[in-house]
Amino acid sequence: MCRMPLETPLAELDRDAGGTPALRNLVGLSRVELAVEMAAFGAEPFRARQLWHWIYHRGVTDFAAMSSLAKPFRERLADAYTLSRPEISRALVSEDATRKWLLRFADGQEVETVHIPESDRGTLCVSSQVGCTLNCTFCHTGTQLLVRNLGAAEIVSQIMVARDALGEWPSPKEDRLLTNIVLMGMGEPLYNWDSVAAAMRIAMDPEGLALSRRKITLSTAGVVPMIARCGAELGVNLAISLHAVTDELRDRLVPLNRKYPIAELLDACRTYPGSSNARRITFEYVMLKGVNDSPAEARELVRLLKGIPAKVNLIPFNPWPGAPYECSTDKAITSFSDIVFAAGYSAPVRTPRGRDIFAACGQLKSASRRQRRTPSAAPSEQAVIARSV
Ligand code: SAH
Repeated sequence: MCRMPLETPLAELDRDAGGTPALRNLVGLSRVELAVEMAAFGAEPFRARQLWHWIYHRGVTDFAAMSSLAKPFRERLADAYTLSRPEISRALVSEDATRKWLLRFADGQEVETVHIPESDRGTLCVSSQVGCTLNCTFCHTGTQLLVRNLGAAEIVSQIMVARDALGEWPSPKEDRLLTNIVLMGMGEPLYNWDSVAAAMRIAMDPEGLALSRRKITLSTAGVVPMIARCGAELGVNLAISLHAVTDELRDRLVPLNRKYPIAELLDACRTYPGSSNARRITFEYVMLKGVNDSPAEARELVRLLKGIPAKVNLIPFNPWPGAPYECSTDKAITSFSDIVFAAGYSAPVRTPRGRDIFAACGQLKSASRRQRRTPSAAPSEQAVIARSV
């Protein structure tokens, strides 16, 4: 499915750059994997439960702080394991209080994570891959070559770094600054299913990060064969990046459409497990001037969505350097929204957030490049890998 084979996340390998065995990161293991690991380590089963609590409820990164564990045991753990976070290579705050972190993993690859505070909630936009294979023509991330999939630890760590920065440990029950997760950052989450699913199971665990599946939304450009599985196995909310109402146009905007055309995609939505009028599927529609924003297209959108518990998010196009599109006029966006709304669908126009720090939809891009394997890799390319945009 992907253009190029995905590499094993280097950060998950138990070796450091010098080839010597490195400490194993316990972050990212499932409850069962942690129990197995602790059993192999000679610890009693309840130790795994205690560790889970310290890691995901209390957010500690240092075994020494785990006061319910005996000191010699803490020291043994520290000799064998780590609870490391990715390094924050850049942290930016927008004038609208949106925050963006550029995170660097053990192998030097980078992704971006964005926190969007609103009056009644705080949403974290999480990345699933370094770069993306889909090449949607309006998306900045699509101009970056995919380097690799993220591992479960790297996905769940994005939430933990945000909690660190927001001061939200132990996991609060109420008045949280981080209430919702959207898998709408860099990458296509359904092309990295195993790691995304493992990370979301950790995020949903009530004795840890405790984010309910109702507060998690997975956004896909339309990897049809994986959609039913996402609903059945994770039960999270679904968002579809639709952006066009004809295959002819969608083939150009979202090239994945050539593989999974609109009719097949909407069929998968019609049968999405768990969707109902109370839990609608979100259809994202980026407003591109003169490309997909006519009243006729709004009416066709309404026709296509018939029978699907749907809501529509109209996203004003966020520009990026060299982008081949412009944002629709306010008038075109309002007319489009009015038509969809009159047909009975909620059709809010999303206020762009964090545009000044390039944190808005489709603006994410790290400097990570696919590393050359040949020994002749130019020093300049290596330098690019280590630099942030
Ligand atoms: N690959 C997944 C997850 C990324 S979500 C998906 O396609 O759904 C990123 C969202 O931002 C998508 O809805 C995408 O279509 C939208 N987007 C991308 N570039 C944009 C831009 N320049 N302006 C506004 N929205 C954009």
